[in-house]
Amino acid sequence: MSDLVTSIRENYQKTLDSIATAARKAGRAPDSVRLVVVSKLQPLEVVEAAIEAGAQILGENYPEEAVQKIVQLKSQTKVEWHIIGHVQSRKARLVAEHFALFQSLDSLKLAERSDHFAAEFKRVLPVLLEFNVGGEESKTGWGAADERRWTDLLDEVRAISALEHLQVRGLMTMPPLFINPEKARPYFQRLRRLRDFLAGQIPQIEWRELSMGTSADYAIAVEEGATLVRIGQAILGPRPARGD
Ligand SMILES: *Cc1c(COP(=O)(O)O)cnc(C)c1O
Repeated sequence: MSDLVTSIRENYQKTLDSIATAARKAGRAPDSVRLVVVSKLQPLEVVEAAIEAGAQILGENYPEEAVQKIVQLKSQTKVEWHIIGHVQSRKARLVAEHFALFQSLDSLKLAERSDHFAAEFKRVLPVLLEFNVGGEESKTGWGAADERRWTDLLDEVRAISALEHLQVRGLMTMPPLFINPEKARPYFQRLRRLRDFLAGQIPQIEWRELSMGTSADYAIAVEEGATLVRIGQAILGPRPARGD
């Protein structure tokens, strides 16, 4: 086995162990959390090594970059690809064609376009709704920092829930980044409360998934109910810079 695979495998296993520890601490079953290995900006050989090291779900931010990898790795039928970055409307078709889960759906317009293309591909596209629970301007997602205004979200969430070729499965967030991960806890708690709120208001949807937690803070996210954690650097090492 190559050094690259060995080192990724070690990191992957360690991460799974920490997820299991955090889950048990919160009284949750370790297998209630799925690990998404975030491979954005990583070259193909790193993604291949990650798959060989055991990665089952890969998360990518940029649709075109991701589709290149997906096409080249077509023979790897066991891996599942998630899109986790902001998607421009004109990329909706790529997402509807190639991804198992669209984690970062962040507007009604994008939902309608995705629904349109999913219909064209004769499929139902599973999606998560991305919320900005920290209120930072740099972050995408529906603004949800002010809990008193959550009812304002309902019209759009209902409209998306009604789209026939999308299946809403839960919520996703990218909270502010702190050196001390404990400080992210209130934001994870807020996303969970938002999920409970939406589940109360729109009970016909199964609000199962909470995608939250990165290399910096996934253990805290798991303690607060994450069902999907998105981890890049802690498993694959530093990313090459984006050169576009
Ligand atoms: C890059 C990215 C991650 C992973 O971040 P790491 O620090 O590499 O763990 C998770 N989620 C989103 C939305 C990202 O863009």
